[in-house]
Amino acid sequence: MKFYLDTVIILDYIKSRNTKSIQFLENLKDNKDWIGCTSSFTKLELIDNLQSLDHMANLAIKENRTLDEITRTRNQRNLTKSELSTTAKKVEIFFNTFGNKIILYDLNESGWNKAIELSKLINISAKDLIHLAVAIESKCDIFITNDTDLMRNIKKEKLIQISNPMNLMGLLDKEKISISRKLEEFRGIIVKILESDYESGLFKRCELCNHVLKKGYCSEHQKVKGYYDLGLSAIAYNGFFEVQVTFEKEDIEKYFELTVEKAVSMANEALDRGVIIDLFERKLKSKFCIINGISNDFGYDIKVTSLEYDNSISPIEVSKFNDKWISETQE
Ligand SMILES: [Zn+2]
Repeated sequence: MKFYLDTVIILDYIKSRNTKSIQFLENLKDNKDWIGCTSSFTKLELIDNLQSLDHMANLAIKENRTLDEITRTRNQRNLTKSELSTTAKKVEIFFNTFGNKIILYDLNESGWNKAIELSKLINISAKDLIHLAVAIESKCDIFITNDTDLMRNIKKEKLIQISNPMNLMGLLDKEKISISRKLEEFRGIIVKILESDYESGLFKRCELCNHVLKKGYCSEHQKVKGYYDLGLSAIAYNGFFEVQVTFEKEDIEKYFELTVEKAVSMANEALDRGVIIDLFERKLKSKFCIINGISNDFGYDIKVTSLEYDNSISPIEVSKFNDKWISETQE
């Protein structure tokens, strides 16, 4: 089965924003009878879309513009060269990750003529004509998109089968995909800050064996004085699966300007160690983050090496992630 991948499907995956698109591409990766195909033009369109999102995020965050101003200046991009190349690199990383599971196809002269012929037949934009012509010329079985207008228009002319990932799910043999690869980047929202059972927040350790104390007691040495330690572990969720992320002490200091000493004095002042968890919640909870780190073999535990906030994800989208996580964890 050969699938034509519209730009939006890959964009969903790169931005971790549509579960069905992600599931579809993960299935494509695992299923030996499936192959993806797209146009070289898709690469350029992806970079263009991502840069546009970066630009809007810059306007909203760095320049603090209003929504009206953002709408007005959305086409006046002024990304730095480094921002431009970072975005282009993300697209390369995507294609490298999928390797030979996604092939690129370019139109030859008769292919371009085909696109021009199609323009006389169907009400779609030049870029969609390129996608359609490539899908037909490369003999794809199904055109995959989330663009409902495009779907309606192509269906009408019966040129190729077309579907969105959601309707395609009937074809999928598995709903949940197990992750066995080493994650290097995780994008998702922080849904929960873990507490001292997970060595997170401000907690005490035994001075003899370093075990975490429970209510002043060490499991080996009974009642001990103990010493304070600081940690941060949280659950991050990408709409599809969750991972536990853990920060090293130097990263807690770097990202939250918090040291053990400072945490102790905050807790003393508030007469409550819970203030440290509260602080982490204020800084992290319900934020959409790009987390880089080292994962275990299953990809469920990530030691954070860098943290960035992705502000291009709207609060509405973030709350959808949150609701979905709650509904999945309460099952
Ligand atoms: Zn002990």
